[in-house]
Amino acid sequence: MHIHDAVFLEDLCPKFRLRQWRKSIHKFTGKSCIYCGRASESIDHVLPRSQGGLSTTENCVPACLSCNGDKSNENALYWYRKQKFYDPRRAMAIRAWLDGDLRLAIRLLEWANPKFKNNEIMIHKASNNEYNVA
Ligand SMILES: [Zn+2]
Repeated sequence: MHIHDAVFLEDLCPKFRLRQWRKSIHKFTGKSCIYCGRASESIDHVLPRSQGGLSTTENCVPACLSCNGDKSNENALYWYRKQKFYDPRRAMAIRAWLDGDLRLAIRLLEWANPKFKNNEIMIHKASNNEYNVA
């Protein structure tokens, strides 16, 4: 009953749902840019919307404004390889993220940045929502 009420409330308030979803994206990486590790201030569409990219968790990564703006409409992995801060572990994490394997993506990000911490409970919760981030 309670779960149905919650879904109903979110259906009534799509903006609220979008905000929750954006928040959850940032939380996955501990609010750090998936490309360079600085604070994530935006959500980057890996495949740009102009090229048919969807606003799904698999296609949306936390990014700082600098990376997001610099990447623009380029292919994310191709663009990333050319950056000074390129890290193959992060590249693998981005690939895993695009495959929808957020658990692996987060492991790889932790490997790239030992200071980065994420908690399992949050991943578990997020995997139950309609964005299907198992
Ligand atoms: Zn960045």
